[in-house]
Amino acid sequence: MKLAVYPGSFDPITMGHMDIIRRASGMFDRLIVLVVANINKRSTFTLEERASHVRRAVEAEGLSNVSTDVYDGLVAGYVRSVGATTLVRGLRAVSDFENEFQMALANRQIYGGVDTVFLVTSMEYMYLSSTAVREIGRYGADIRHLVPACLAEEIADKLLKVGV
Ligand code: ADP
Repeated sequence: MKLAVYPGSFDPITMGHMDIIRRASGMFDRLIVLVVANINKRSTFTLEERASHVRRAVEAEGLSNVSTDVYDGLVAGYVRSVGATTLVRGLRAVSDFENEFQMALANRQIYGGVDTVFLVTSMEYMYLSSTAVREIGRYGADIRHLVPACLAEEIADKLLKVGV
């Protein structure tokens, strides 16, 4: 069975993430979307909120081979613990590349059995990021086309409230 892990902050999950999840779910027998507590980034949504968003968005899409988990530790350690050998990451512009390249090498150094597979963004999501959603949402502008429909109201409400 081909098992892959798609790790990220998902703060919050966007249509760009969903596009990667949908495509990766067709490439592997099982995909785990791993919501990671990133010590280098202060998150707007709690780990539980982010995981709940991912879970509901995946369910709404009817992707039955995709599950969601949360982790507060090294991704490579998680990958090993579930017996996976593939990490999925998305690539937007060249600016993503350097960081992703370093991370892929670091993960393989920690756990030699892991390979990272990169999926190139779909054109319409090239400029879409969680940061953009947070920025747009904090000013009360429409984010409905940027995040999964079932979450839009909840995400918009929180962004308006916290203003970050
Ligand atoms: P991280 O903090 O780990 O980078 P993110 O939630 O920002 O977590 O992103 C998770 C992964 O999804 C990263 O590999 C990122 O490049 C990818 N990603 C984010 N937005 C898009 C998008 N619009 N199209 C393709 N990949 C994306």
